[in-house]
Amino acid sequence: MTSDFFSSAPLALETVRDTLAKLRSVPALTARYADIVALDSLEDLIHVPVMRKDELNIALDHLKPKAQHGATWTFQSGGSTGSPKLGYAPTGLYMTEVYEQWKPLGPDDLFVNGWGAGKLWGAHYLMGAYADLTGCTGIGLGAVNRTEYDVWLEFFAARGVTSIGGTPSVLRPIIGRAREIGVKLPDLRTVLWLGEAWNPGLDEDLPVVAPQARRWGLFGSTETWVAGTNTPQCADDTWHPLPSQLVHVGPDQLIDFTSLKPHGLNPVLRYQTGDAGEWVTCTCGVPDRALRVLGRRDGEVKFRGLLLNADALLREVATVPGVLQAQLVLTEYPARGSTLEVLVVPARDTADGLAARVRDHILGSAFGGPSTAFHRDPEALAVRATAALIHNERTGKVSPLVQRTAT
Ligand SMILES: [Zn+2]
Repeated sequence: MTSDFFSSAPLALETVRDTLAKLRSVPALTARYADIVALDSLEDLIHVPVMRKDELNIALDHLKPKAQHGATWTFQSGGSTGSPKLGYAPTGLYMTEVYEQWKPLGPDDLFVNGWGAGKLWGAHYLMGAYADLTGCTGIGLGAVNRTEYDVWLEFFAARGVTSIGGTPSVLRPIIGRAREIGVKLPDLRTVLWLGEAWNPGLDEDLPVVAPQARRWGLFGSTETWVAGTNTPQCADDTWHPLPSQLVHVGPDQLIDFTSLKPHGLNPVLRYQTGDAGEWVTCTCGVPDRALRVLGRRDGEVKFRGLLLNADALLREVATVPGVLQAQLVLTEYPARGSTLEVLVVPARDTADGLAARVRDHILGSAFGGPSTAFHRDPEALAVRATAALIHNERTGKVSPLVQRTAT
């Protein structure tokens, strides 16, 4: 069996050794990396402990990396509580490599950048850096609210916009609104997305609004930066890693990433994002193995003393006909314990009563421990149909599991 730790990227081994030396220089991490004597080959990475967000944040706090040329940009690196944790990227945001592998845009395109700008989120700037390389014409849209949709849609149609990019759950209501008011975008060719899973609602509305439009995705995190790309010919959960990303699938299918960027700023060495994955052959015909992302493995939470796997429950809910999207909201009440609310977005033309059917399905399925809790206390489970899931105000992203404490 060949190791996952293989790369033909130039200077790969030197880069990894350099990252290890940086991590060792962080006083709080020295002991953690003390046992790794030398890296004779990339395969020796198997002996390097995986790192998570906490270790990376400790390292970044100490190292405060600086780019070799131009400005160093800081972006929020995970952690939704407390003060922002900062990740770093140089001017250009490493997009040259992305452009070599992924080309949804060219000089003739008119591209709408619909990712929210500012507030330490990288996506808007990343796509601006990408657009620079393509020679396209850009429109910096940023975040718009529902009252602005109509006027912008008319503008897009009048200008003959050929490409739009955004978080899928942000694009979905915009394209859905276009369908409602009859706006057509016949020139729209590419829909660029990153930040969360593809939104199947777009597959309902795009064929009506913009029959030529196809999805083009990027996968990654603020810590690893862009890790992989896909095209309309790939499954929406399947990615072709960039050459500078050394991707390893470890125990429990957890993915770790090692940066092979020679002047990369974040010391990413076997960094686990919490995503699970497997190697597959992609349907697009590219012969190299592709990474299928299976969702998160850290979605297990305590629910009334039992372990609830959010992804498994959501997969179960997704099997109910008419469920387009779903989300779990776990609320902790000091006195009466937790309650679980399942939010479901109905597909178009779904018959009434979807929430009741989903509830019956959950109670009727042999779904692990928590169904016991629901039977014991039916009030602990609620299912509600909604037009839109709860999203992060800053990024527009939708998390599969929202946890709250009742006050
Ligand atoms: Zn593919």
